[in-house]
Amino acid sequence: MRVLLALVLVAFPAVALAQDAAFPPSSGDAGERAAATTGVGAQAEASDGVGGSGKPLLPAHERPIVWVDPGHGGKMEGAVGHKGVLEKAVALQISKRLEEELARSLGARVLLSREGDQDVELSERMRRANEAGAQVFVSVHCNAMPLGPTRAHAKGVETYFLSAEATGEQARRVAAAENAEARKVKASKDPLANILDDLATTEAHRDASALAYAVHQQLIKDLGATDRGVHQAPFIVLMGAQMPAVLVEVGFLTNPAEAALLTDKEHQGKVARSLAAGIASWLDEVARRRMPLEQLEPPVRQAEGGAR
Ligand SMILES: [Zn+2]
Repeated sequence: MRVLLALVLVAFPAVALAQDAAFPPSSGDAGERAAATTGVGAQAEASDGVGGSGKPLLPAHERPIVWVDPGHGGKMEGAVGHKGVLEKAVALQISKRLEEELARSLGARVLLSREGDQDVELSERMRRANEAGAQVFVSVHCNAMPLGPTRAHAKGVETYFLSAEATGEQARRVAAAENAEARKVKASKDPLANILDDLATTEAHRDASALAYAVHQQLIKDLGATDRGVHQAPFIVLMGAQMPAVLVEVGFLTNPAEAALLTDKEHQGKVARSLAAGIASWLDEVARRRMPLEQLEPPVRQAEGGAR
């Protein structure tokens, strides 16, 4: 059934255009407002230089544009963890380290949904990432368990990509928590219709699965974290993506040990390096997929050359 719907949507891609209508900006020119409040323009400049690795700067057209989305911000605090640790603060700290790491190791142009403790509408984040032509979108979050016997014990990493239906109870719970701050979704619009609009961007959606696995496997390997799996759920922040987009829950703030780790600068650096490595391995995979045959099989080319 889902395949059939996807085919219908491929046949009628115009439904993707309905995205902006579904999430109208609150007032004024959203693009200007976004640039003014979060300094996206300035951000692009700031990340233009490659860090201290001494690597030559890639030509502009070869530098990947990566959108990093620190979860929550401003009044939207996200999860409140052990000892009152706020998800919005940890997500921003890790995102800024990820920005540095992506610029240093990949020469990427990195854009952030927010630079500081600002409230940025969920749908606005993806709209701006699409506008910027980002090739990858990574939303950084921390998990939390509701009050109950498992609250302090749940631990580990979960990675998500978009689907119309959650893949289980845990995925449903996480999506509900992360979507809770959305204010602009019109109650009159069927939420499923919104999601189906998004699935029109089928290629990006298919790649999101590969990106999610690349990032997730890298994190599990590098952090030695409990593997809670790759899941799918209807996250508002991922809807309408014209690029592969994932949401990563890098650990549980309600677990005292993980809350301590996630607020530790060294561990944050490790998470950022691992996320960057996961993104890099996925970009490599994409580059290989698009490489002309002769570049993939040099021996064939040599043999042909010799025969002439
Ligand atoms: Zn969150």
